[in-house]
Parts: sequence; C-alpha cells; structure tokens
Amino acid sequence: MHQSDIAAYRCRCAQFVLAITPPLSNLPHRDPSICGVPSIVIPRNDGRCVFTINADRDRKSTNLRRKDGKDERWFMYHCPRCNLAVAYDTADKEAAFTYILESALLPMDVDEGNSVNETRRI
Ligand SMILES: [Zn+2]
Repeated sequence: MHQSDIAAYRCRCAQFVLAITPPLSNLPHRDPSICGVPSIVIPRNDGRCVFTINADRDRKSTNLRRKDGKDERWFMYHCPRCNLAVAYDTADKEAAFTYILESALLPMDVDEGNSVNETRRI
C-alpha cells in the first residue's frame, strides 16, 4: 500500500475528520432511491478499505423514514470541533457500513505535514 493511496478529509471548520484508503472518490454512493441524503458507502468488514474517523458518535439513534417507506436508525458522527454531522451508521454495533455525508467533508492536502504523512522523506 503506497503512502499516496491515503486520502485525508476535513470538516468545513478545518478539523481533520477522516483518513482513508482508497479515496472516497473510489467508493460507491448509496442508492439515492433509498436515502435522499447523498452518502458515500465505506465497507467496514472488507479488507480493501482501511480508515480512521475522528468524530464523536451519538449513543442514541435518530429515526429516519427512508424513501421506500421503511424506518432506519441513524447513529450520527459529529465533528469534534464544530459538531457538524459528518457521517452515520445504521446499527447498534458491528455496523457493516459507515456512510459519509457527501456535503460535509472536504479533501485535505496530505503533503501539508499532518500526521498522515509522517513517513515522508525530505
Ligand atoms: Zn467541524
């Protein structure tokens, strides 16, 4: 796995939130006919995808009505600095997927000297 395969994302307040390989742009989007909120799907139990999320997860779920009429429980993840919702999952524990809210995160330049890039040689 190459260093350059790791992508980092920040909240709109500049707080570092997510480091992931492969980049979010390589991951699938959730079916918009099920969920009206644009979301990117991170498979948690799939060896292809490794990530670290720096966000506070709600202990209590929020109930949402899906477009197909079913109810879904969302455990929201919030930015630790500004509390913006950045992601969610839908299971009490052992969630198979984490969903990133597309509008919440912005890509970071990993060459700016944050810890994601600490093994870089000068
Ligand atoms: Zn924030």
